Amino acid sequence: MKKETIKKLTDIVGKEAVLTSDEDRICYSYDATRKIALPDVIVKPKNANEISSIVKIANQEKIPVVPRGAGSGFVGGSIPIMGGIALILTDMNRLIELDEENMVAVVEPGMVTYNLQQEVEKRGLFYPPDPASLKFCTIGGNAATCAGGPRAVKYGVTKDYILGLDVVLPDGEILNTGVRTTKSVVGYDLTKLIVGSEGTLGVITRLTLKLIPLPESIKTALAVFLKIDDASTTVSKIIANRILPSSLEFMDQSAVRCVENYIHAGLPVDAEALLLIEVDGDEISTKRQIEKIGDICSKTGAREVRIAKDEAERESLWKARRAISPALGHLSPTKINEDITVPRNKVPNIIRRLRDIAEKYRLNIVNFGHAGDGNIHVNIMTDSKNEEEMKRADEAVGEIFKATLELGGTISGEHGIGITKSKYIVDELGAKGMEVTRKIKKVFDPNNIMNPGKILS
Ligand SMILES: Cc1cc2nc3c(=O)[nH]c(=O)nc-3n(C[C@H](O)[C@H](O)[C@H](O)COP(=O)(O)OP(=O)(O)OC[C@H]3O[C@@H](n4cnc5c(N)ncnc54)[C@H](O)[C@@H]3O)c2cc1C
Repeated sequence: MKKETIKKLTDIVGKEAVLTSDEDRICYSYDATRKIALPDVIVKPKNANEISSIVKIANQEKIPVVPRGAGSGFVGGSIPIMGGIALILTDMNRLIELDEENMVAVVEPGMVTYNLQQEVEKRGLFYPPDPASLKFCTIGGNAATCAGGPRAVKYGVTKDYILGLDVVLPDGEILNTGVRTTKSVVGYDLTKLIVGSEGTLGVITRLTLKLIPLPESIKTALAVFLKIDDASTTVSKIIANRILPSSLEFMDQSAVRCVENYIHAGLPVDAEALLLIEVDGDEISTKRQIEKIGDICSKTGAREVRIAKDEAERESLWKARRAISPALGHLSPTKINEDITVPRNKVPNIIRRLRDIAEKYRLNIVNFGHAGDGNIHVNIMTDSKNEEEMKRADEAVGEIFKATLELGGTISGEHGIGITKSKYIVDELGAKGMEVTRKIKKVFDPNNIMNPGKILS
């Protein structure tokens, strides 16, 4: 990057907020995919006006701008594959306002999701979206990827809690979208267009979020199944019985064994599958629901149903679920992680198809995820140095997506497209969908400076 450009950026944000050393560039070159590309410069703005000035320069000089929260994404969205400016939002991390009467929070994009949840829960309020990365990912990153989590089965995903946004557009102008009210039907829904756009349409600088009352009681159960088919059938049976759990998580045997090796929590490694089921609401209804769930699980073949007696037991059940991602890191050097989603009554079908695909391509595939909303995390455990195996893995991914779409599903329930899935989106959107998507990108970003190469390769 030209020295004069670095000087202009330094004039905007100050010397300490512009980094150019090789060490710093490496630190901001990757995300959870472990793919790497170096930015030319790292810039850490403190407010929307600074971002606006930075983006204006980038637009004039046609320099890529890559917004970045915690860099925890699973699809390479914050990797600067064309160099340029890595725009780090983590210093903008304030809770600007908590309006208890209207149940609204206004936050900066770099606020860590868990920190927001802690703040609002102190006042008896609730921000439900709970990606497993919530202790380090940012609200801005969540909005840009439309993150979801275990509670999506009952409460929905990030887009369901965003009322409005401030966004610095690729020409440097600031767009305010949405409202502070629950209702509004004025014009196109620009808020929803920006949510999930993975930093390709602008930089989110402020979010107005909807909160709801914090549930009074939570009850959690772990059901152990010797047959995987029984576990996947139970998922549909619970919902068919008109119970909507706040979480309904699934782990297959490889995931159980992998976690047990990692944290030694006493998990039943002979089980083909586990379901972690949680309900929330008032004390009486949660007690009734968890007992009913226990009965259903027993009838559908569970060998054992453990109901957590207190918060400590609940936490230990969740510890196993949250340990899956780090535990997988110890299983093999490379993990190809897809987050396909099918209609929940098709969970048994996709689980069978995944088993066949693993056999056909001779791959170790570990499955877990948010079975209650049909979102299965499919992890192909491989080694990027083994070219032959990587080729088989790549073919398996294509077949997994094909099976998902045939079952009426989607190739990404929560991680987004980024760089890793961009070659497949045409299969879901179709030619017309792609054409409209490209036109929208062009209207927002005619010079293609905002996170270029993401979503649309
Ligand atoms: C262990 C682990 C568990 C995970 N579990 C889940 C899960 O349960 N559910 C889930 O949905 N995801 C999960 N993820 C993926 C990841 O945490 C989410 O995608 C998260 O929303 C990314 O937030 P981030 O702050 O790290 O964003 P980054 O990774 O920094 O960025 C993600 C994308 O958002 C864009 N972006 C970031 N901030 C902004 C902004 N202010 N304005 C515009 N664009 C922006 C980036 O350019 C990029 O395209 C997990 C990741 C890990 C490592």
